[in-house]
Amino acid sequence: MQELMSDDGEHVIFRVAVRLDRTGNGSDDLKWVDWDHGFVTDKIPRDVRWKDASAGIPNESFRPFTAIGECWQTTGIHGTFVRDEAVALANILAEAVPDFEYRVDRVEISQKRTTEVKVERMNRVVKCPNNPRHRRFMTTAHITEVWIVDERGEYIEALEGDKEVTHGPDPGNNWTCYECNEQATIVD
Ligand SMILES: [Zn+2]
Repeated sequence: MQELMSDDGEHVIFRVAVRLDRTGNGSDDLKWVDWDHGFVTDKIPRDVRWKDASAGIPNESFRPFTAIGECWQTTGIHGTFVRDEAVALANILAEAVPDFEYRVDRVEISQKRTTEVKVERMNRVVKCPNNPRHRRFMTTAHITEVWIVDERGEYIEALEGDKEVTHGPDPGNNWTCYECNEQATIVD
């Protein structure tokens, strides 16, 4: 199982968001996304971003937003629990890469794990009745994601990367051969 959320509970997270720009990144969507995209990071001067670029050590202002930061370690989301750290980073980005607009989003998340499902290799084998060399199949897996919602619970955006597999491929579900579309058979 891919463990992206390591802790249950309520958290308030501050994330620095950047506004997608029609000319800057080729997207027509003018929406706010996490700042950590190539169209921003490629333009940050090295000495602003890194304490030691070759060793991958970020400057202090970037550190909380990395995978070694407390926020990611606790929630699996890139951000910070400290508002001032987010404001400081937004100001640094606004100065270093003024091509884009930035803002600090306050995100309240509630994570509660009720079941833990381990995805294990199936003992049973799935076969295509048409051709034993067909070895790719289509079936469903169930994934949850964390949404940013407004005060009415209306969807705004899904947090990138914050997905969790709740049910992996199951021999009880329907399997179809990816090569020839034939209904596959399960062999015990
Ligand atoms: Zn087939």
